[in-house]
Amino acid sequence: MKHKVMLVEDEEALALLLKYNLEKEGYEVLWEARGGKVIAEIEKNLPSVIILDWMLPELSGVELCKMIRSKPDIKAIPVIMLTAKGEEEDKIKGLSSGADDYVTKPFSIPELMARVKSQLRRAPEPKEEKELIFEDIRMDLVGKKVYRGENYIHLGPTEFRLLRMLMENPEKVFSREYLLKNVWGDNIYVESRTVDVHIRRLRKSLNEFGPDYIRTVRATGYAIDKNMIEDEEE
Ligand code: CA
Repeated sequence: MKHKVMLVEDEEALALLLKYNLEKEGYEVLWEARGGKVIAEIEKNLPSVIILDWMLPELSGVELCKMIRSKPDIKAIPVIMLTAKGEEEDKIKGLSSGADDYVTKPFSIPELMARVKSQLRRAPEPKEEKELIFEDIRMDLVGKKVYRGENYIHLGPTEFRLLRMLMENPEKVFSREYLLKNVWGDNIYVESRTVDVHIRRLRKSLNEFGPDYIRTVRATGYAIDKNMIEDEEE
């Protein structure tokens, strides 16, 4: 599978040059010239690395980088920030945008390609995970749908993300704090009891068509586990 590189650059000539060279290296390139739709495109395509220009129409590279870092689904994707000469690197770093690397314009193509390669070395190989299965529960990750046997289970977006986290790591016990941080995100303030509310909703939807596989672990948190041991009644 080809690595996808998301290129966010408003200077068309530079973008086309980079696109050409990245494709020559064997990457699939997704190009955005404006900031507005970038987050939605990243969430849809899940690129392996993001090359982000600092100065962009609509949303700046720094703002975009902060948004990427606050979203659990995409926060781990490496970001290489392109900065123009004169925008002092230290100043940009001081903004703590969370970029993994900074490249100052003008740069040479081989230099940028090397930086991309170095970020990809740290990134996981792209895996084509289309669904998660736990016993009779099936999660379609592409269509964002959940089924239990033949039955479609309607879940809200939070319940979907919660279930996904549990199903990706069966039998692992997650603390409420971990779930809050990774399902809701760092920047949102919610009480840890909120997790219980959403787990209750998730259980209600899932258990309509089968046994309860969500395990409550007293004073700890939650897991999905077929060897159901109910430690605590909610
Ligand atoms: Ca620019």
